[in-house]
Amino acid sequence: MKDEIYKALVEIVGEEFVSNRKEELYIYSRDSGLSDPSFPDFVVMPKTVEEVQKIVQLANREKIPLVPAGASLTLSGLTIPQRGGIVLDMRRMDRILELNRRGRYIVIEAGVTQGKLQSFLEENCPDLCHSLPEAPPSATVVGNLLIHGQGNLTQPYGFNSSMVTGLEVVLPTGQICRIGSCSLSPYWFSIEPLPYLAGLFLGWFGTTGIVTKLGLKLFPKKKLRDVELFVLEDPNLLVEAIYRITHTEMAEDVTTIAQPYPLMFRGTIMIGIYITGDTEEELEFKRKIIWESLGEIIKAKEGGFMALMPEMKKGLLEKPMSSLTRTADILKGGGFVYCGAIIPIEKFPDALRKLVEIAERNGITYAHSGRVIGRGHCMMFAFAFPFNRGDPESMKKAKKALHESYAATLEIGGVPWKPGAEEQKMILEKMDRGTVELIGKIKALLDPNGIMNPGNWEVRL
Ligand SMILES: Cc1cc2nc3c(=O)[nH]c(=O)nc-3n(C[C@H](O)[C@H](O)[C@H](O)COP(=O)(O)OP(=O)(O)OC[C@H]3O[C@@H](n4cnc5c(N)ncnc54)[C@H](O)[C@@H]3O)c2cc1C
Repeated sequence: MKDEIYKALVEIVGEEFVSNRKEELYIYSRDSGLSDPSFPDFVVMPKTVEEVQKIVQLANREKIPLVPAGASLTLSGLTIPQRGGIVLDMRRMDRILELNRRGRYIVIEAGVTQGKLQSFLEENCPDLCHSLPEAPPSATVVGNLLIHGQGNLTQPYGFNSSMVTGLEVVLPTGQICRIGSCSLSPYWFSIEPLPYLAGLFLGWFGTTGIVTKLGLKLFPKKKLRDVELFVLEDPNLLVEAIYRITHTEMAEDVTTIAQPYPLMFRGTIMIGIYITGDTEEELEFKRKIIWESLGEIIKAKEGGFMALMPEMKKGLLEKPMSSLTRTADILKGGGFVYCGAIIPIEKFPDALRKLVEIAERNGITYAHSGRVIGRGHCMMFAFAFPFNRGDPESMKKAKKALHESYAATLEIGGVPWKPGAEEQKMILEKMDRGTVELIGKIKALLDPNGIMNPGNWEVRL
């Protein structure tokens, strides 16, 4: 049977783009996080939507699990084929299809990476940009949106997934459909005002369909960008400081950092405030308004701006910020996992306390980074743990700390972001029963044979 499936896949995409070789499947059996590996039977790299459609039809007919994958960089095992089957590597579908400059949107295929889109815009349209996450440039834009990612424009505009203007999806039964204005017009400018069908695919981890094309909002890119670091010690005061900063509506991005290494950072919390402007004057104006908003805290000597050495400033202004991975690699060995908790900002002090407790209890170190979402509507709070991949004991401790962080997130009233299969179960257990049932019904309706990324968002009706 496996030989027949292999032959059928070769017929669809050509021999060069299918593999059942152990050494190639190995790469798709794991990610850079701490999830247990599991091998697929085949990996396929389609080039066209018609090829995707034929693969989906084959998988549906033969009831073979199908796992769509971008760069597999979530760190939570979301593309590890838990029940074998076919991994659909989307990275050959990497065309940028349309740039609508006046309408500030772009239409791309599912395999376009963050790096490719970033350099395309820099070259072809330097006055526009998209919301760029700190993920490595090889991460796909679609993979990021499908997990409700966040980037440098998330503070003013919300989750990256709210920036989608259109979708083309191959449903688990093989039907192709379009979502948004592109379903009735040649223009991919908006999901609204039609029924909000994008919600059937965003946040579902590839369990409801394969996204093949996506329309994405672009935003004005100012010529100049600068960063200020506001430092304080009291986590309660951070909540107030962020309220004041976001009230000014002057920042492009607001991030948080708290970590015990390097030692100079220990005991402090830093708020990274990014400002942009087309002129030095605009930049100065925004800087002044933000400084004034924090004036009382500075006057009370409860916080202050840190003078930034040029090297440090350069690192903070890098897009994406590679220093993030360097800091995470503090134990050497290249291991780093995090539980990204989406929490109300007022819960920052509780989350930080829990993070320190979890690290101490497990005898490991931590690194927190966070990002404000919307104008302070919530934030992503990363409970991050570096580990040494060469040391199984340190991996075990990080895994336990990670699990405890998910539990802590739920305990303080937060929602874990991009949870792995085990953590999805924790979420579903706590979730309102009616909502769980609705998730189950939607999945059963769209994917009657349960072939799509099985093991994820699994509900027994
Ligand atoms: C150092 C580092 C920093 C990071 N910083 C950030 C950050 O600042 N912000 C942020 O948001 N994330 C961050 N991440 C997390 C993650 O890497 C990114 O969100 C990344 O963009 C995910 O894209 P991907 O291509 O790796 O997705 P994948 O892991 O390949 O896929 C994600 C999910 O979507 C599904 N999927 C993928 N493609 C399709 C498709 N075409 N159709 C249907 N389903 C599909 C997969 O099955 C999976 O469930 C970071 C990760 C690292 C390692």
